[in-house]
Amino acid sequence: MEEEWWFFNVIVIKDFKMASSFQSFVRPVFFLLLFVDIHLQESHSASSPDGTNKNVPHQKFSEKDKSKHFGYDKQSGPAVWAKMFHLCGGHSQSPVKLDTTITVTYHHPRIMWWNYSLKPQAMTISNNGHTVLLRAKWARKEDTPYHWSAPSSEEYVFEQLHFHWGQDDHSGSEHMLNNERFALEMHVVHYRRDLGSVENAGLYDSGIRVIGVFFRISEAEHHNVGLQQIVQLLQTIRMANSTVVLLEPFPLSRLVPEFSNLYLTYNGSLTTPPCAETVSWVIRKEPLTISRQQVEEFRNLMSEDGQTIKHNWRPVQPLNGRTVIQIR
Ligand SMILES: [Zn+2]
Repeated sequence: MEEEWWFFNVIVIKDFKMASSFQSFVRPVFFLLLFVDIHLQESHSASSPDGTNKNVPHQKFSEKDKSKHFGYDKQSGPAVWAKMFHLCGGHSQSPVKLDTTITVTYHHPRIMWWNYSLKPQAMTISNNGHTVLLRAKWARKEDTPYHWSAPSSEEYVFEQLHFHWGQDDHSGSEHMLNNERFALEMHVVHYRRDLGSVENAGLYDSGIRVIGVFFRISEAEHHNVGLQQIVQLLQTIRMANSTVVLLEPFPLSRLVPEFSNLYLTYNGSLTTPPCAETVSWVIRKEPLTISRQQVEEFRNLMSEDGQTIKHNWRPVQPLNGRTVIQIR
């Protein structure tokens, strides 16, 4: 998941001079995130098994350094993340292999979705050098989409959504479902309402809820109509650290399917550094479809070092005894 909320904020501040009305809501988030970095770092230190902290403190990185801090190639890729980000070596990491034949099955809880069909007042799509990130703002704060699933009744409020893709049609998704990888996986990131912000929620068990949606290549080459709203703008944000402000914001329901059952859920982590283990994952079982041409557009995006982002998925992590629950 994204995980990279701080990068996005940095980018927006840089590129947002053209959208001053949006700036007022982005700016406070930027200051908050410095705070979160510090706290995540503290939690690293506290959980360090030998009582030492060999990590370089996050707050000492310049904004530019931060965005270079991890990648997907040999030098900076998932295999070495744990050296820099202690939590990435934890025991409840994501993504994982999901196997529907060995899950515990229930018929509840059903997910209830609210406000996903409301049109936002402002919307941006960014290339932060790692992924494509969509953010939106609604006219009234209470209009922001949220969902809940009884019996917990915790409300999870939309924060952002982003994507993971691969260099060929059979890789890209982070989670695997019955040994299958998909061409694209969308992560719709939410935070628990009572925790106030995604930054604060990232410090608590299940503080963050990520809805994962797979996309499989359609052999009929049908475009995914909802996704095309983003795909058509990818050329505009080809360079890292670029943002486009949408003239016509669209409701999330065009992109996010409002399923109530047929999903898998488990507790895991952010799939990018700092890999905090505070994510309640909900993965939709049924993949959506996408055309080959649409996926290609993602593969043309550039990272900060000027290379194309051919893939941005983390390999599956061991379950280590965690239970995956299947809701039918
Ligand atoms: Zn993600």
